[in-house]
Formats: sequence, C-alpha cells, structure tokens
Amino acid sequence: MTATAPRMKTIVVAAVLALAVPVGAQQQRPTAPPDRLPPPQEAPILAPAAGQVGVLPVQGNIYLLNLGDVNIVAQVGLDGILLVDSGPAAWSERVATALRERFPGRPLRYIINTHMHPDHTGGNAAIVKALGATGGGGGGGATRIISHENTLNRMQGTAEGEKELPAEMLPTSTFFTKKKEIYFNGEPIEILFQPDAHTDGDVMVFFRGSDVIATGDLFSTASYPVLDEKRGATMQGHLDALNRMLDITVPRFNQQGGTMVIPGHGRLCNESDVDDYRNWMTIVRDRVQELLKSGRSLAQIKSARPTLDFDGVFENAAWTPDQFLEAVYRDLSKAAAAPRSSSN
Ligand SMILES: [Zn+2]
Repeated sequence: MTATAPRMKTIVVAAVLALAVPVGAQQQRPTAPPDRLPPPQEAPILAPAAGQVGVLPVQGNIYLLNLGDVNIVAQVGLDGILLVDSGPAAWSERVATALRERFPGRPLRYIINTHMHPDHTGGNAAIVKALGATGGGGGGGATRIISHENTLNRMQGTAEGEKELPAEMLPTSTFFTKKKEIYFNGEPIEILFQPDAHTDGDVMVFFRGSDVIATGDLFSTASYPVLDEKRGATMQGHLDALNRMLDITVPRFNQQGGTMVIPGHGRLCNESDVDDYRNWMTIVRDRVQELLKSGRSLAQIKSARPTLDFDGVFENAAWTPDQFLEAVYRDLSKAAAAPRSSSN
C-alpha cells in the first residue's frame, strides 16, 4: 500500500501434479464435465503403485484416498480438511504427505471414525499431529475426532474385552443418538449411526452437498460382509445398513451415477452396486436360513456351497466364503434361538 514498500517479485511456482493416482497399467481416463463422473462401467479402476496413496477426485468436495486395500475419504474446502477414517498406522506419514502436497495450507479440522478397527483408526494420532489445527486463533479450534460412543468405549478399553489405546488416538467428540450433523466446507454432513452391523459402533457419512456417502466397512466390493461377532455385528444389522444407503442414494440415469458411494474397501460405487450387494447378501442369507430350517449342520451347509455363484467376486483370503458362512450360520442360529426384538 505504501510507496516505500520494497518491490516484490512474484515467484510463480509451477504446480507439480506428480501425486495424482499412480497409473501403472491403468488406461487413459475419459474426461467428463466437472459435475459428473464417467459412467461406472468406464470408471477408472484405482491402481496406485504399491505403497503409494492414490487420490481420486470423486465429485463436489470429495476425494477418495486409496491406501492399498483400504479407502479413506477427504472432504476439502476453504474451511480445511475433514477425513472419514485415518487408515492403518503404517500409512499415516504417506497420507499426511499426500494431503499436504495436494491441499497445501489446509488444516485438518475433523476426522470421523466409522468404527474402531485399526485399519480405519490407526492414523488418528499421527495425522492429527502432522496436519491438525491447534486450539488457538483461526476460529476453527483444535482438530476433533468424531465417532459413535460405542466406538470410543471400545477404543478406550471400557467395553468388555477391549484394550485401551493411547489417548491421542481416541475420539474427542462422540454421540449416542441415531445421527449427528455438522456443517463444514459449505455443506451439511450427516453422520449416521448404524447399530449392530459390522461392529456395534458403525457410522456412515453422507455429504449432502457433494452427494457422496462414505460407508466405512458397512459396504465393500472386496469381500462378503465382515461380521465382527465379538463386537456386536449381525447380518440383519448389515442388511439394514445397506438398505439405509439405498434410501439415500439417487441414481442419475438408468440406475447409474448420481449419488456416489465410497466403500471402506474396494472401488468407487453408486446405487446399483449397493443394490446388487444387498440383493446377493440377502440371497445368501435366505439360502443359509432354509438349510438351517431343514436341519442341516454347519458342515452340510458349507458343502452345499450357498455362496458359490458369488465367490468369484467376493472371495478374499482375509475373509473367506467359509468364514462368512460360519458367521452367518452362528448369527441365524442365535436369531432363531432368541427372536430379534422389535427395535430397529
Ligand atoms: Zn472394519
């Protein structure tokens, strides 16, 4: 403003877009208008080079960050960064670097933990330390870690059978109602509790402006539903969660596009993917139910191969069809012994 101010030379630093999604054997991506993604059958398959964070712009404010076989989600805007899950501890530094390079100067304001498993919460402490906002100035306050109360109880070791995690990893803001709402980066965000599904503390996160759902492990394209039975999972809870997603999603055309759905593991999806998954899981559940009703043992049910037509899609060494069937069998046996209460 003053005449005595020294002349400044503007230094233009060329943005290096080296991060992007490492392509490997990936095909050329089709370009599309900014408000929509290519139709799913042409959508790029995320194939980051081993050990690198893949960053995929989804739509609106939302980015999918792929960490090997785990996804986390970033919502980024003028207010800063919100993450859904923090990934495995071993990836923290790479996640912080990727966010810093891609979104320089943006503080991390929120992490929402979808549930307590370490591949979704392992980076809480380190990523907050690297990118977190401090309490002073700026109007945003310190970075908050949000979860359902049941998730905190497990992480802080107050739920039966759980070990206490270091304090820096723990959620700092919890809720026990069906839904928590926040408004951040110009959009309403609904954090939706889904009881007794993958654990007893799952939430999915619906970005209403961007029209994207981050599901955590309530949905996956990489395996059958994982039932963490010791932590309150049920098959019906899982199906209820998928039905709630289907209530929210609105396809753009021919069941495709529109609301995008980011699973905890696997590829970017839309309503029809969730619909297929819900239908296939219902079919498997009903087959096991029928076999159970006709008095078959677990061994007989397994040898009947009720998942056979879906194994090609969902076979996963970490959660095999047999493990899934065993969990479904126990779940349905329990439900038969003690009919489910009328609560939803
Ligand atoms: Zn999980």
